[in-house]
Amino acid sequence: MSTAPEEQYTAEPFVPDGADLDGLRRAAGECRGCPLHRDATQTVFGAGDARARVMLVGEQPGDQEDRQGKPFVGPAGKLLDRALAEAGIDPGEAYVTNAVKHFKFTQAEPRKRRIHKAPSLRETTACGPWLAAELALVEPELIVVLGATAGKALLGSSFRVGEVRGTVLEREIHGRAERLVPTVHPSSVLRADDREGAYQGLVADLRVAARALS
Ligand code: SF4
Repeated sequence: MSTAPEEQYTAEPFVPDGADLDGLRRAAGECRGCPLHRDATQTVFGAGDARARVMLVGEQPGDQEDRQGKPFVGPAGKLLDRALAEAGIDPGEAYVTNAVKHFKFTQAEPRKRRIHKAPSLRETTACGPWLAAELALVEPELIVVLGATAGKALLGSSFRVGEVRGTVLEREIHGRAERLVPTVHPSSVLRADDREGAYQGLVADLRVAARALS
């Protein structure tokens, strides 16, 4: 007996041609490219200066981001801002976004806390056209890759953050030569047993990014 092909998830039909960042943001609000829009509150598109020299790419919005509709406004975002400033990168001058634009979570009961769930490779791939469109418009000099999901979205499924963190990589991505500095996702610092050590590791990687920008 043959099985039906898996439904293809992709944001591609929702990404408008020739739109600026505001146009992309509005269109992303209507994206139905994968099932993650069903349970999330809203699309959380990237934010920041369209001419930013550095683009920070995380995994997906968290609980606070989902409620507020802005990326990196929760505890991990606050930690990231502090680490960026300590490394010499003005967080206000960066463009911040996520590989996946809707919050994926599990919830034991309707009124219980929503627990972050990592997006699948299929969902990350589906959301890729939004990230590609952001990259094409912002044209950053450097991409800071925050964690494994962002790394797999940009560099392929064999990406391992521990192997390349704190180094400057040069890769062709969506037809453009990009420079990237991978590091951990700031939420992993919040979960670490040795939080101070993990934080200092993040700052050290971000210093590599700051030097690559200077
Ligand atoms: S996660 Fe991405 S592809 Fe999926 S519905 Fe949201 S914006 Fe569209």
